[in-house]
Amino acid sequence: RKLVGKITTGSRNFDELLGGGMETQAIVELYGEFGSGKTQVAHQLAVNVQLPPELGGLNGSAIIIDTENTFRPERISQMVMGLRAIDDREWRPEDFLKNIHVARAYNSNHQILLAESAMELAESLRETEHPVRLLIVDSVTAHFRAEYVGRGTLADRQQKLNKHLHDLMRFADLNNALILVTNQVMAKPDTFFGDPTKPVGGHVLGHTATFRVYLRKSKGDKRIARLVDSPSMPDGEAVFSVTMEGLRD
Ligand code: ADP
Ligand code: MG
Repeated sequence: RKLVGKITTGSRNFDELLGGGMETQAIVELYGEFGSGKTQVAHQLAVNVQLPPELGGLNGSAIIIDTENTFRPERISQMVMGLRAIDDREWRPEDFLKNIHVARAYNSNHQILLAESAMELAESLRETEHPVRLLIVDSVTAHFRAEYVGRGTLADRQQKLNKHLHDLMRFADLNNALILVTNQVMAKPDTFFGDPTKPVGGHVLGHTATFRVYLRKSKGDKRIARLVDSPSMPDGEAVFSVTMEGLRD
């Protein structure tokens, strides 16, 4: 069994909530309303996984399966420039961007295929200086939710999503990687999806995810992360900020 790695979020508060950062060999599910900061956290982790261990990284690279077309290289650049305040080195955005492999998923079947291709890419990078230690699926549920509408198709959707999550878990184990998935939930109670504070996709995600984090907006750039039903950590909350430079306390 390989040693679990930890990747800093950039916020000490958020890291402490998770027991020292986001762990490899696990799925972290970020769920929350539109604008709660899920994609921001994903961008930050794609930067931070590349940092050396002394700065909270794993010298790794990242794969992003982008289902909503919300990946922004400029945002990565801002976050890399923001590293200068943390450690005085010549951090260069292009050095980080080249280790972030982004693929746009056009529908749920394509998303599943991309997860399979990610396995091959990770294999080819395994013996390099920057093995893949992070796989992001942002959002993991959007296509499934859009395509499988109505009660009759619910079981079908769950089965597909289940297989997909199983693939992701396998990726996490084989590559000693963190899987970071996002899942948008409704602000208002929604009879189809049930409790708005419970993630869409419900039980399937619930059993597979090792860490489930509920994100919500607070004042200004503040965000609140709540750890829900963790097997190894107490439930709790952490406040962090989404700044131009990236995630901070
Ligand atoms: P979600 O993915 O949960 O829908 P996002 O992660 O896209 O939400 O969060 C969007 C929010 O992140 C914006 O409303 C803004 O508050 C913050 N944000 C985005 N870009 C920047 C930036 N360059 N500087 C500071 N804050 C930003
Ligand atoms: Mg988003």
